[in-house]
Formats: sequence, C-alpha cells, structure tokens
Amino acid sequence: MTTTDVLVVGAGPAGCAAAYDLATSGRDILLVDRRSFPRVKPCAGALTPKTLQALRFPVAPVIRQVTTTFISRRDDEPPTVYEGRHPLAAMTVRAELDQYVLERTLASGARFTKIGAIRGIHVESEHLMVQTATERLRCRYLVGADGANSTVRRLTGEFPDIGWGFGIEGHVAGNAATQDFEIDFGVVPFGYGWVFPKGDHFNVGVFTSDATVALHPDRLRAYARARLGARDCTQIVGQQVGLGGWRYRPRSRRIFLVGDAAGLTEPLLGEGIYYAVKSGQAAAEAIEAELEGTAPARDLFRARMRVLGRDVSSAARLARRFHGDLALGYRILATPLVTYCAVKGCAAGMTIRDVIRGFYTLPFRRVQPLPGLPASKPGA
Ligand SMILES: Cc1cc2nc3c(=O)[nH]c(=O)nc-3n(C[C@H](O)[C@H](O)[C@H](O)COP(=O)(O)OP(=O)(O)OC[C@H]3O[C@@H](n4cnc5c(N)ncnc54)[C@H](O)[C@@H]3O)c2cc1C
Repeated sequence: MTTTDVLVVGAGPAGCAAAYDLATSGRDILLVDRRSFPRVKPCAGALTPKTLQALRFPVAPVIRQVTTTFISRRDDEPPTVYEGRHPLAAMTVRAELDQYVLERTLASGARFTKIGAIRGIHVESEHLMVQTATERLRCRYLVGADGANSTVRRLTGEFPDIGWGFGIEGHVAGNAATQDFEIDFGVVPFGYGWVFPKGDHFNVGVFTSDATVALHPDRLRAYARARLGARDCTQIVGQQVGLGGWRYRPRSRRIFLVGDAAGLTEPLLGEGIYYAVKSGQAAAEAIEAELEGTAPARDLFRARMRVLGRDVSSAARLARRFHGDLALGYRILATPLVTYCAVKGCAAGMTIRDVIRGFYTLPFRRVQPLPGLPASKPGA
C-alpha cells in the first residue's frame, strides 16, 4: 500500500497545477495517471495570456508560435481581421506542453506513477483509500483532475449534473509559421471551427457546446478541405469537454474536483486550460490552508470555485445569446469597438466576464508583458 498526504489523479494541466503548488510547499504528493507521458490529448493547445499568467513558470520551450492577429468569419461573409500588437495566444502541441509541465512538476518534488483502472474510493475517518486494479493508495486528500470523463467524479458521486461539449481536431501538413489564428463561427451548431498555426502544421478542429450535436471525423475533413484545400487531415482525435462548472458545489471535506472533471471549460470558445490551472491551484491552496490550520479546505475551495464558476457561467450566457441568433451575434462581435475590446481584454489576461464588466474601461487598460514571450510590437 502507498501512502501520501495528497493523491492527485490525472496529470494534465489541472492535476499538475495542484501537485506543483503542494509539492513546492513541501507536502508529500503522489500524482498518478492511467497513461504514460508524453501522451496525446485531444486539444488545440492554444494558451491565452491569462493562462500564461496563471502558470507558475514560463512554458516558452514548448511554444511553437505566438499570434497577435485574430481572424473570425461567419459563412461566406468577408472575414473580420484584427491586427493586434499584443500576443493573443501562444500555440503549443498538447503532448509537448503536458510533458514539459509534468517535468517541471516532478522537479518541484511531486512523485508520479502510472496506475491501472481505479476500482473504488473508500472514505475512512481521517483518510481515503483508492483501490486500483493493482494496488491500494492511501491519502488524506484526493484531487480529481482526471478530465471530462472523471472516474473520481463518478465513483464519489460529487457533481452528478455535469454538462458536456465535444471537440475534434486533426493535423494538416504545411508551413504555418507566418499564419494567424482563425475562427469560423456557424460551421457547427453552438460552436465553431478553427485553424491554428503550429509552425510545421496546422491544427484544424471543430467544437460544440451542445451535447446533442454529433461531430464526426468526416465533418472535420470537410472543414479542413474547405478552409485549407487539404486533401489529408491526419491524427484525428476527439474528446468531450466538461461544462456547467458553476453547478459544482464541493460536498466532501477531502475530495476536490478540478479542471474538466469539475465542468470548467468555458462554453463560448471551449477554453479549458486556464480554468484547469486555476482550479488546480485553488485545490492546492485550500488543502495547504487546512494542513496549516488557517482555514477549512472545503470552505476555501468552495469560495475559489465560486469565482471560476461565475466566469464560465457568464460565458455560457453569452454563448446562448450569441449562438441563439448567430447572424445578430456575429454582427455585434464584428463591430470594430466590440472586436477591439474582446481582443484587448484577451491580451490583458481578462476572462469573458471581466471583459463584459469592464467593457468601457478596456481602452485605457494596460497590457502587461507575458512571461517568456517577446514584448508586444511597438507603436501599432
Ligand atoms: C478538441 C479540443 C480542443 C481544445 N482546445 C483547447 C485550447 O486550444 N485551449 C484551451 O485552453 N482548452 C482547449 N480545450 C479544453 C482543454 O483541453 C481541457 O479543458 C483541459 O485539457 C482540461 O485539463 P484537465 O487537466 O482538467 O484534464 P485533461 O487535460 O483531460 O487531463 C486529464 C488527465 O487525467 C488522466 N486520466 C483520465 N482518467 C483517469 C483515471 N481513471 N485514472 C488516472 N488518470 C486518468 C488522463 O490520462 C489525462 O492525463 C480543448 C478540448 C478539446 C476536446
């Protein structure tokens, strides 16, 4: 039997964020995953400025390119092009990003091991016992960072009313080094298609926040053909994303769900890495506070999750309105002032909720340099 202070299940961005902070505080952390790393994770790997700010260390070694120009489209209308001077997204390949983040997390003192299927989770008076196919893991706290289809969530009954979206992505070969990042609204219901440049290839994908919409690889191939004239779209993978995180009310004193397991993907654009990192850090902060005797972990975790829940709920309301009347929604988005504010807010590291609330002050907002990235272009 293995014993640890905190068992973190899932070594994606949420699990690593929790493990990194706790290990840095000197806690005994066991991070486990059912896969060996590096591993493929269906994801477009775009990191927004707020994600780069939230991460505890720069991820410059795995950034393929940085985009400052945003291009959006709807149907056959002329594209809306916004040439910014600040970074809007750092493009990574998830297998590379996650491997790097895991290495940094292990360097901070966390231990990592690959585990077999989790068969049961038993709550004892002061401990939890996690039974896998091959061993028993005993811990004081359990962080469920095992993604949208979380086994920890299912076995503990925490957050039964999670919602779902779906994304599917693939690679199109080609020199993307000078390309911008592009979004096509309306190519799927309640979602969009994207073309993201990754140096030696394009990442092409479609996302929907409507669980009833089926996204088949053929749909992605047709989109890749239409957008890039691509005859071949390879390495196609898809996965659910967890939505509805504002409904998650942590009940347990010792079990905390984070990231996609807690429904924390934002439904308008499908951005989840930021919320994964922030919620992982929230779990670490809460556990550390209880271990130090300064606050009950569940109370602090609930408070932090309420803030993140408000962010994704605000984005969900906007997504409903936007997609509910896409013609009108897109016309509003494409007006120069709204595009400018959306882009400036993104560059300044704001959430969608912050942008809505701070709309009129955005033009005066300063954009801070991002860790590990070149400074913004002068003048523009
Ligand atoms: C197609 C697609 C494109 C996306 N593009 C973007 C994007 O560009 N930018 C962005 O910010 N977000 C994007 N997202 C969302 C983003 O991928 C997720 O929100 C993010 O990965 C959530 O991180 P996580 O750590 O919670 O979960 P994950 O990254 O899913 O990590 C979960 C980990 O848990 C492990 N695991 C699962 N089950 C078990 C188990 N039973 N036992 C042990 N380990 C287990 C998995 O192997 C995995 O390593 C996209 C999602 C999809 C599907």
